[in-house]
Amino acid sequence: MKTADICFHLKCDMEKSAKSVVASVCKKFDHDGIRIIDILREVQKRLGCINGDTMELLADELSSHRVEIEGLVSFYSFFSEEPKGNITIRLCDDIIDRFAGVKEIAGVFTDELGISMNETTADGIFSLEYTPCIGMSDQAPAALINDVVATNLTPRSARTLARNLKKNHDPSKLVKKRGDGNNAGRLINAMVRNNIRRKGEVLFADRISSGAGLRAALKRKPDEVIQDVRDSGLRGRGGAGFSTGLKWDLAARADAKERYVICNADEGEPGTFKDRVLLTERADLMFEGMTIAAYAIGSKKGILYLRAEYEYLLPYLESVLGKRRKAGRLGKNISGKKGFTFEIRIQLGAGAYICGEESSLISSCEGLRGEPKNRPPFPVEKGYLGHPTIVNNVETFCCAARILDKGAHWFSAIGTDESRGTKLLSIAGDCSKPGIYEMPFGMKVSDVLDMAGAEDPAIVQVGGASGEMIGRTAFNRRICFEDLPTGGSFMTFSSNRNVLSIVDYFLEFFIHESCGYCTPCRVGNVFLRERIQKVMNGFAEEADLEYLKDLSTTIMMTSRCGLGNTSPKPVVSSIAHFPIVYASLTRESTQGFQASFDIQSALAESRRIARRQSMIYDPVYGESSE
Ligand code: SF4
Repeated sequence: MKTADICFHLKCDMEKSAKSVVASVCKKFDHDGIRIIDILREVQKRLGCINGDTMELLADELSSHRVEIEGLVSFYSFFSEEPKGNITIRLCDDIIDRFAGVKEIAGVFTDELGISMNETTADGIFSLEYTPCIGMSDQAPAALINDVVATNLTPRSARTLARNLKKNHDPSKLVKKRGDGNNAGRLINAMVRNNIRRKGEVLFADRISSGAGLRAALKRKPDEVIQDVRDSGLRGRGGAGFSTGLKWDLAARADAKERYVICNADEGEPGTFKDRVLLTERADLMFEGMTIAAYAIGSKKGILYLRAEYEYLLPYLESVLGKRRKAGRLGKNISGKKGFTFEIRIQLGAGAYICGEESSLISSCEGLRGEPKNRPPFPVEKGYLGHPTIVNNVETFCCAARILDKGAHWFSAIGTDESRGTKLLSIAGDCSKPGIYEMPFGMKVSDVLDMAGAEDPAIVQVGGASGEMIGRTAFNRRICFEDLPTGGSFMTFSSNRNVLSIVDYFLEFFIHESCGYCTPCRVGNVFLRERIQKVMNGFAEEADLEYLKDLSTTIMMTSRCGLGNTSPKPVVSSIAHFPIVYASLTRESTQGFQASFDIQSALAESRRIARRQSMIYDPVYGESSE
């Protein structure tokens, strides 16, 4: 047979195979377009990519349009139009991993595999790439190899790992020494460690009676349960701190036949990993909190939205759900309560930081691009598929279950006036004891640093990339909503770290993660980064600092969602807390101060190229088109 004939037959076989894979995967999910993320995940795994032909097949099977499938594939980073290797090695590229030497690890892999980053080997077996935070900052540098997590990598261990992979092509064989707690169990079987350094009385108390919170809740009326949660003072643990009881109350009161409970297990904030540990050690408590919420608001269906990076936890989480069903704690007439029916499904994400924002997460659960929705209406009025929906995170649901078990007063007696209960911190960076700390709200930053064995702490980033960067003069501040709020991320850096390189990394992260919908976020963060680099390179003048402050305010005030509203915070807080660093790198302005930042002027060039007009005033075209 001639080469051309062989190629033709191979192409036909591949087409046939793609067709049958797409057909069988769509059938598995009942051709339900809402499950498209699951469908795409499986197709990607089986075919190695979702190329144009596969998109056409998917569109036919799902009665959709190719452009819609394409929109999803391009949005989520775990999908690819280009063929990926059977084994994808994703090296975590967050700031902690960078400081821990991930570039060196990357050098070992490129050397062993004979490819550069973002390439696939010619035999189609290995792909190598960077990925943002995978939730392992306490054991950096770390990597995801398909769904196997490799932690605490050194150049030596990375080389052994790469050689083993080349020999047996099986990532599961890499797991030699399992981690602690449930990580060591058959269903998780991971090298990951929990690193629980400090247990508090709410989440990691030694004796937590399984089912006690639900039993207590079912003895009460739904509105009494909501009142208990309100009385406890519980605020959402994702960072924004909205009253959980009020959220539940609003959803319960909304005029609707269906309501939904969604648990946000998509912690993607750089430096955050506390939900990963709760999912590993407190999954039953979390599902219990979701069930209590369902009873309180009158919901029959719930979704756990699990970030793609935590796929290795999926079999274990499914088993916990199975046990709850068997014990009558899920399904019909839960725990003997006639008429109380509730089920939970797990929705895996596909690699998009923005899906941690609640309306984006709802979009993703609906099978859409994870783009934020306009508000109002708020999710408690019109959320998942247009029904009232509460979205709380893993820690919040765990707290709710404990509150019903131990009482609102017990919980509200812990912490500060505005921040009741305990808070889980994920501590990472330059410290000898990185890991999970449960502590009452109100603890001073300096005490946290002492506990974690921080080495020569000079810079602390509280709340992840979208949080606040503080220096030594602010170490007497307290971790609580009324002072320094955090969803859980707490990164400490010693005095030999460069403040501006940390800020630069965060901006790089936001540029990568912006969904691109609105201009201030999509373009503004690029401009901020350019100016920060100008400062880093010693070319900046005082006027550049004014520019940075003005542009930051503009982005924060005009962006559509929380990502843009918070992305300039590392810039603003670092200017405020490290004035000497900035002053040492800037010269006096040679031409006087530049006028305040004008985003319309700044965008003029890009509009001219794109032939788009401003809705306000366009310096290129003159009058507004509106
Ligand atoms: Fe998207 Fe950023 Fe606008 Fe949010 S602020 S909608 S992430 S572009």
